[in-house]
Amino acid sequence: MSKNWRPATQLVHGGTTRSQHGETSEAIFLTQGFVYETSEAAEARFKGETEGFIYARYGSPTNDMFEKRMCMLEGAEDARATASGMAAVASAILCQLKAGDHIVAARALFGSCRWVVETLAPKYGIECTLVDGRDLANWEKAIQKNTKVFFLESPTNPTLEVIDIAGVSKLANQIGAKVVVDNVFATPLFQKPLELGAHIVVYSATKHIDGQGRCLGGVVLSDKDWINEHLHDYFRHTGPAMSPFNAWTLLKGIETLPLRVKQQTENARRVADFLAEQPQVAKVIYPGRKDHPQADIIAKQMSGGSTLVAFELKGGKDAAFALQNALQIARISNNLGDSKSLITHPATTTHKNLTDEARDELGISAGTVRFSAGIEDGDDIVEDFARALKAVKA
Ligand SMILES: *Cc1c(COP(=O)(O)O)cnc(C)c1O
Repeated sequence: MSKNWRPATQLVHGGTTRSQHGETSEAIFLTQGFVYETSEAAEARFKGETEGFIYARYGSPTNDMFEKRMCMLEGAEDARATASGMAAVASAILCQLKAGDHIVAARALFGSCRWVVETLAPKYGIECTLVDGRDLANWEKAIQKNTKVFFLESPTNPTLEVIDIAGVSKLANQIGAKVVVDNVFATPLFQKPLELGAHIVVYSATKHIDGQGRCLGGVVLSDKDWINEHLHDYFRHTGPAMSPFNAWTLLKGIETLPLRVKQQTENARRVADFLAEQPQVAKVIYPGRKDHPQADIIAKQMSGGSTLVAFELKGGKDAAFALQNALQIARISNNLGDSKSLITHPATTTHKNLTDEARDELGISAGTVRFSAGIEDGDDIVEDFARALKAVKA
């Protein structure tokens, strides 16, 4: 295995271990536990004197392959695979904090992520300040003596704002705080938070990594010291482990990640460019377009626009509903990153629980629509939008 392989190669071969049968495809080890030849062997395993697995809540062979492959892709030293993206986010944040600590988080967060820092953490005496993460001055102003963690997602859901990851990491390093980045929207292919100075990266593997709508999963990646000091025991004793079956499914998904994300990104760019010219559309936000309000930061930290497009229809909710209902290829769904194109109206679905004020702050209006590009033929997707927009008044 070469560390210098490019991502497409690592994602097919990285981390593979074969059983005595020499199978081509990775095996699924659906086992809860492991047996030892002798009492002495069990003792040595428990003392950590010999390598090997102990119990599937701690780690298991198929999960290990998935974790190693993710480490190669991310450039991380170590990882833990979790049952869902939210298990990854909650573990990454809670494992390193105690009562009296303080989190600064960008307010534009995936709904459940916001609940973890805004609602759950305070129940355990962990304070949280939410800021408009686009301006570094807001992060700096929010710092307190007890600030231990900065948490952000970039680009954000659903309005694709970006946050200067290197800038936030520099501030964190000045006070010895850790930066946790939820890197789902950029994918591991277009943005490398660890290279930008962040300390911990989390994914919902449910999204592009599976990418085919099958199973939930998540992963936390960082350096060995942080994992050993903070996540290792938390993970063992609270049990957010991924099912080996899901680890196997995700290993298969990950092999085709670069192919799928490349096609999805090309389709997203084409839809963004098409929508920008349409009279019914007030505004298009796509990180791959020069007119993105933060194109300068994007140029510094992303190597591609990724697979999501946000746009605003002049006709508000009626127009958004009419468009979604008329589309034949993009299906109405709150999921994203799938090989099927998906479309959602955040104000009435994913972000309906926010107050009107919080939605305004995030730039989510009644006419905001989020499109997740699939791997279909781009000509078909654009033609479908052209046809469906006829149902929408200019
Ligand atoms: C989906 C998602 C999550 C949560 O992941 P699950 O696998 O659904 O638990 C967290 N963050 C972002 C940005 C997401 O898109």
